[in-house]
Amino acid sequence: MTNPALIHHNAIQFKKSIIQLCPNIWTAVGYAASTQHMIVGANSVTIVDTSESTKAAENVLAEFRKITDKPVARIIYTHSHRDHISGASVFAQGKDIPIIASAGFASDLIDVDPDMIAPSQALGRRTLAQFGFGLTSDQRVSLGCGPGERPMEGMGAGHIAPTQLISENCSMDLDGVQIDLIMAPGETSDHMVVWVPEHGVLIPGDNWYHAFPNLYAIRGTPYRDFGAWAQSLLMLEGLQAKVLAPGHTMPVFGAKNISEVLLTTRAAILHVMRDTAAGMDAGHSLDDIVANLTLPPEIADKPWLGEYYGKASWAARAYATGTLGWYDGNPTNLGSLASKDRAQRMADLAGGIDALQKAAENTSNMQWRLELCDHLIALDQPVQSLKANAMEALADTEINATARNTYLWEAKRLKELDASQASSD
Ligand SMILES: [Zn+2]
Repeated sequence: MTNPALIHHNAIQFKKSIIQLCPNIWTAVGYAASTQHMIVGANSVTIVDTSESTKAAENVLAEFRKITDKPVARIIYTHSHRDHISGASVFAQGKDIPIIASAGFASDLIDVDPDMIAPSQALGRRTLAQFGFGLTSDQRVSLGCGPGERPMEGMGAGHIAPTQLISENCSMDLDGVQIDLIMAPGETSDHMVVWVPEHGVLIPGDNWYHAFPNLYAIRGTPYRDFGAWAQSLLMLEGLQAKVLAPGHTMPVFGAKNISEVLLTTRAAILHVMRDTAAGMDAGHSLDDIVANLTLPPEIADKPWLGEYYGKASWAARAYATGTLGWYDGNPTNLGSLASKDRAQRMADLAGGIDALQKAAENTSNMQWRLELCDHLIALDQPVQSLKANAMEALADTEINATARNTYLWEAKRLKELDASQASSD
């Protein structure tokens, strides 16, 4: 089963389309996890963002070629995330063209130095889970930020490092098309948006898309500056754009609509910040802050703030730990018990391991079942299938694509583990 709202989001927001934004700018939606844009100048074109794979980039270039055969003269990256920078070689077509990016350009996903101390394998595994690599197409119905189905060939293969770094806001002539490049820290600190004043077209990168903002990515991300993101949304709203062409999902047309989506998204970020800070000030635990977090109706009702990609509860956790770190102010948490030690004590309280397992099997609360299963697994009990089934049940109703993919990916992994243990017994 799949949450129907997630199926609807995927069908509407990632429908394969080449969309004309104004007389000389087109956007490709649904060909890759991200969107790509083409700005047509007098004798050449500029590509803004390049997708995550060479195959997706080839498909988009073929579509753009139906519109114009003018050569690609330059590429602009809105930011350094891999899904925007990995098809550049296809658009450059072997030519040595300028690749323009913010001076802060620094991906958290490319050029992982194996000699550097970093939890790279954890990041890799969690990225596979979040995007549902290896799941069937029925399972991976959506990425939340992109279509569930997309080309995988040449994934990450076509990146070209920037050759021209922009350190402050500036104007640029793209072969007769005047644009402004504006620094706008948000989903990443290196965000640089493209603004075309003549046509009122704004390409904001990932600072806005049709989903709750991904203030924390469960693959694992350093703290994203909530305040800076909210501030950038206000600045972008001030441009009074007529067309908004985000780095994921469909474009938005009309100054009033654009103003509304930008300002309500900003309000959502500020609400999470305010609510979480108030809970921390009151000395509440993070679990309670999250349990009590509700978005006011004027935010929660907006279709573009559905939690298909980001999630308010995860954002609250990220805000709390990003501002004051892991210690929540409760001295109980200055120390800890090892999982197995805690699990044994839980089993003793429950009346033994068998009773603990019965409780896990009998509860209808899937979150509670997962927590009890973790104790049983810590005690080397073979409850992998029970935990996997609980994750699959949560995936059935989950609206968030990355949570759904992660539940299903980890369930698959546990079942495979279970099967290989059974066969070696
Ligand atoms: Zn992106």
